[in-house]
Amino acid sequence: LTFKHANFPSYIQLALEQKGFERPSPIQSVCWPIILSGLDTIGLAQTGSGKTLAFSLPAVWHINDQDTLKPGDGPIVLILAPTRELVQQIQTEFNAFGESSNICSAAVYGGALAKHQLKELKAGVEIVIATPGRLIDFVTSQNLSLARVTYLVMDEADRMLDMGFQPQIEAILSQIRPDRQTLMFSATWPESVQELAHKYLRNPVRVTI
Ligand code: AMP
Repeated sequence: LTFKHANFPSYIQLALEQKGFERPSPIQSVCWPIILSGLDTIGLAQTGSGKTLAFSLPAVWHINDQDTLKPGDGPIVLILAPTRELVQQIQTEFNAFGESSNICSAAVYGGALAKHQLKELKAGVEIVIATPGRLIDFVTSQNLSLARVTYLVMDEADRMLDMGFQPQIEAILSQIRPDRQTLMFSATWPESVQELAHKYLRNPVRVTI
């Protein structure tokens, strides 16, 4: 598979070329066609495999595919990740590709003042990248609606469960419309992750790299 085969908008093709990426990584080659066709997907892959762009680029495509954008209504794409560092890393990768398309993102994580993050959210965003605890705070205080989320990613699911985020993840997922597309990425495949997948993904395709 080349980048052209993935059928992304031209500005994404251009950004990939400008980054000097020669070809999709294995997880990207396998995941892109599956995710772009709308299927729930489980990606078992390590950091360094290119997993971030495996779920980020189809997210940009997903957003561009929505014909009525009302930024004030909350995000279309929600990405859950275990730590502040990972949230910021994902946002950086996103911004490299989303910028030329007017897509706005907000990063939401604990251990920092909520004020700044709230301002970002209120400005209207298509993508929210968040740790589960702080996200639940914003949803409970009605500062953030998840009503418009149709593309949900759980990144490093095994680490999120290890860190005890299961109750927050379940509370968040119960607020998101059931006809969403759900993606889960994990480095390992223990029973706890299998159970989460079984509960919240619909007929998922499982990709192991
Ligand atoms: P990740 O596994 O998502 O943490 O990505 C690891 C690193 O690989 C990141 O710095 C990406 O920018 C880079 N990367 C992602 N996809 C590609 C690709 N197709 N070719 C070369 N580098 C890539």
